[in-house]
Formats: sequence, structure tokens, C-alpha cells
Amino acid sequence: MIKVCKFGGTSMADANAIRKVRDIINSDCDRKYVVVSAPGKRNKEDIKITDTLYSCYSEIMEKGNCNKYFSLIRERFMGIVSDLGLDLDINTILDNTEKEMIENRSADFCASRGEYLSALIFARFIGFEFVDAIDMIRFDSEGRLNIDYTDDKVKNVLKGKENVVIPGFYGKSYEGKVKTFSRGGSDITGSIIARGVKADLYENFTDVSGFLVCDPRIVPMAKTIRQITYKELRELSYMGASVLHSEAIFPVMKKKIPINIKNTFSPQDEGTMIVPNDKYNYREGDPIITGIAGKKDFTVIIIEKSMMNSEVGFIRRVLSVIEHHGLCVEHLPSGIDTLSVVVSSEQLRNGILSDVINEIRENVSPDYIQVIENISLIATVGHGMTRRPGTAGKLFTSLAEAGINVAMIDQGSSELNIIIGVANSDYEKTIKTIYKAFI
Ligand code: ASP
Repeated sequence: MIKVCKFGGTSMADANAIRKVRDIINSDCDRKYVVVSAPGKRNKEDIKITDTLYSCYSEIMEKGNCNKYFSLIRERFMGIVSDLGLDLDINTILDNTEKEMIENRSADFCASRGEYLSALIFARFIGFEFVDAIDMIRFDSEGRLNIDYTDDKVKNVLKGKENVVIPGFYGKSYEGKVKTFSRGGSDITGSIIARGVKADLYENFTDVSGFLVCDPRIVPMAKTIRQITYKELRELSYMGASVLHSEAIFPVMKKKIPINIKNTFSPQDEGTMIVPNDKYNYREGDPIITGIAGKKDFTVIIIEKSMMNSEVGFIRRVLSVIEHHGLCVEHLPSGIDTLSVVVSSEQLRNGILSDVINEIRENVSPDYIQVIENISLIATVGHGMTRRPGTAGKLFTSLAEAGINVAMIDQGSSELNIIIGVANSDYEKTIKTIYKAFI
């Protein structure tokens, strides 16, 4: 069995956490490939190494050196090495890193050094081999991950190697320079390595024991999701649930490698298993729904016109107005004589909303246009909904009983989720009500 493990910033934050990581790896010999983040926050007020490295970059661009911010980097890594009792000449390594950062003058290069140093130190501490991500992960000329090329590289570079530590978050650009993923991107590195080495499991260690059914700020005792499919997770993370980088499932998805979200500080917890549809195993008592997530501040533009359905090109003309203004459409629920366009309110500021309405009027001569602002979208996600009749009934009955007015309904054709629009002021109440009805 092969397991790839990724440890996030809090797991690498100080010597105590790093010792826990070592114990986790040593407790299971299947954990052969380890991806690490840069040291993160040790407490709420602390600053992530990656953020300080971005400050180093700004300082370099302004003054030609990074004396002020690099001293913080130096202090942090020297502290970790000495607390771990490691025999490593970290001072010389840091001197060289600082020099390279000044020479490179690249934000991505600076930011990547957090993961680089973290992996170097951890490899030495645990007695594993250090393999640099730059030798495996490649981006294409558009700046996107070149997965086929990368896959080949991972296979070749790691062939015959076991017990390896790899820095997360970065790879090599088309031009041969260090390039990072977006923030939190070490999750993607772990997924890429899992795919390349054909892992049986990708364990993603963080500081929580998996995904919660909904935001704990709204439902304080929200339960942990035991199992979730890739597709359900896509729906929930699009709506704002964030434990794993939203792009991290793509590399493993095709290969059907499950991801287990686990907690470094409570490793005995089962965590959340993210699996393909056909690996989902039901347990007695599993809830019908998997999760509830939402986002505030949307605007719904409702366009009404009799016989709209028989007018060729109607929807195209409405959408061309939206496109002309460069707006992203979130949802497009429609009826026989109505079409609703849901757009984030942020995009409609500074008079854009009235321009859009006027242009729609000119383009399709509707009978009536109505705008509803301050709408929240809430998705109730669960592939189990398909198998059980009455889910939608239960959802809407609970909302009606709680006196919540539903302004919009959109059920995706996959029947994986039901998205509703409610007033922003009902956002928290709606999530609480759905949670109570199903969990
Ligand atoms: N260190 C990077 C960040 O803070 C990447 C990561 O931790 O995944 O975003």
C-alpha cells in the first residue's frame, strides 16, 4: 500500500508540531511520500512564513534588500532547527536563500522558499530523502499545470525512491522559473504526487478533523462529514467551504484515489474521506444530506415575457448583455415565461446594474423586469437525495415552518444539490433550519 501525506502550515509551525508529524509518519510504514507546507501560524496573532516572504519581496523591490523581513524568517527557522536539536548548518542555507531571493526579484521565488526550507529541515529530521518539486511539477505557457508532463516527471524522478519529502506549493514555469500555485496550493502538490506514484490513499493532514456539515460559526456543534464524493465536495467548496484547496481534487479524481482529511493534533480521529461515487460505502444512520454551504450578496434579475419560450435567441440576447459587461453568471433558473439571472452583487456596483437592465430592455423588450438584491444562495448537497423521495419536500416544509421566504430555487440536473435564494438577513437562520431538519 502506498500513502502520500501532506502536512499543512500549522503542522509545520514549530518543533512540537513537527515532532507530532514525525510520529504520524513513523507509525505507518505505508506513508512513503510526504509533502509539506511552510511553517504557518503558531497562534492567532502569529504571521505565516509565506506572508513574511511576500513582505521580503516587497522590501527587495523597494530597497534592494530584505534586511527587515528576512531577519524574521531567519529567527523562525533557526528556532525550529535548534528546538529539534538538528545538526544542520541552517545559517549558511539561510544566507544563500536570502542572496538568491535578492538576485531573483520574483514574488513566486520568494514565497516558495518557505516550503523549500520546511521540506529540507523536515527531511533531515526524519531521515528521508529531499526531492525538489521544481524537478517534477511543470506549468504550461498559459501558467496552467501541465499534468501529463508533470505526471511523467513524478514517475521518473520518484522511481525506485521511497521515504521522500517534497516541498509543496510550487513547480517550474514554462520559462524555467519557480512558479507557485495560488495560496494553499500545497494541497495540489500532494494530489499531484499521489497521482504520479499511483497512491492508494492521499492523506491531507491539517488542524481540523475533516469537513463539517456546515459552518460552525452558525451551528456550533456541527457534525463532521464522514464521507463525501468528489462531486459533492466541488459543490460545497464552490459555495465557500474551505479546508482543502478547491483545485486539489482534480489530479486524483481521474485515478479515483481517495483523499482523507485528517488532524495532525488528533490523528486517531477518522476525519473525512473524499471518494469517487463508486467507492462510497453507506453506513446505517448516514444522513440524506452531506453538507450545507452558502454565500451572501447576490442580485437576481428576473425577466418576464409572454411566449418567451417560442422566441428564438431570447436567452442568447440576454446573456450577450451580461457578457458585454464581463459579468459571471452564478445561476440561470428559468420558467416558461421567466428567466432569472443570478449575479454576485459585487459585480453590479457603480451603476453597472442599471446599464445592464437598460440594455436587456432594449435587446429583448421584456414585459417586466424585477431586481431582487441582498440575496444569499444556500446549497444543500447530498448525492443520497436522488435515492430518497421527499427530500425537497422536507427542505421546503422546514423553511416554511420557520417563516423563511424562498426567493429562488435551482435544482441542478444531477440532483446532487438544491440551491435556494433567501434574503441576506435570513442566511444564518436558513442554514440552522436545514441542519435541524436533516441532521
Ligand atoms: N504556504 C502557502 C500558503 O500559505 C501554501 C500552502 O500552505 O499550501 O498559502
